[in-house]
Amino acid sequence: MQSDLLQINALTVTLEDQTPLLNGIDLTVKKGEVHVLMGPNGAGKSTLGNVLMGHPDYRVRAGSIRFDGQDVTLLSTEKRAKLGMFFSFQNPEEVSGITLENFLRTAKSSITGIEENVFIFNLKLKKIMESLHMDPLYAYRHLNVGFSGGEKKKSEIVQLLALDPRLAILDETDSGLDVDAVRIVSQGIRQFHTPENSLLIITHNTKILESIPVDRVHILVKGSIVASGDVSLIKTIEEEGFAPFVGMGDEIDES
Ligand code: ADP
Ligand code: MG
Repeated sequence: MQSDLLQINALTVTLEDQTPLLNGIDLTVKKGEVHVLMGPNGAGKSTLGNVLMGHPDYRVRAGSIRFDGQDVTLLSTEKRAKLGMFFSFQNPEEVSGITLENFLRTAKSSITGIEENVFIFNLKLKKIMESLHMDPLYAYRHLNVGFSGGEKKKSEIVQLLALDPRLAILDETDSGLDVDAVRIVSQGIRQFHTPENSLLIITHNTKILESIPVDRVHILVKGSIVASGDVSLIKTIEEEGFAPFVGMGDEIDES
């Protein structure tokens, strides 16, 4: 039997001022599985990703997050990263003063606790970038500074492949991408995925999921998971939108 890699139990989260954001979330991802999280704008999808990584804006009021059997609910972001958790932001920030290469080599060294050899790391990075049809010279530009939307998203996939986490939470890594870039990101996800690691993919763009084996789909509405099912749930959403899950008369922000 596959073991549980991520176990979210009855997770209830608010902002500091008690504004409720997530309400009793239960979700288990086993080793090797690919889960997809969908839902209307403002449902709390990015919040969940941030909370899983320990973002300081959010307060866990009840419930727990376990990673590979260990309770990580109160761990720092850094410690979660060391355990093998990775979150790619919906809107990657531009960070001047550090190159993509330097950022990644430092992060990788910090995660593994072993100083990465500069030469070998650069070779690996070059290979990864070439496989994603990204100019390897981008490795020496400041992190995301002046990158186009598509390049930022590809840079997230480069980070995914270079850091090689055990659980990757990808937040709309596909939004704003042209068809070719969607294909490349999708290929990067396939390249990353093995029976030993897991993915939680937050997306609106089901094109990204083509040729990625999806084990389970969850629909988040107003901070609660209102439906979970197999990959056929994606088809239902494509055809009917989120309305059937929100309930009659509820407003959905489709903007
Ligand atoms: P989604 O990713 O599903 O579109 P989000 O998780 O980004 O939704 O946001 C869910 C709700 O929580 C939104 O109403 C958003 O404005 C609010 N929210 C999330 N994070 C914060 C924050 N740090 N400060 C204030 N409001 C927040
Ligand atoms: Mg979001």
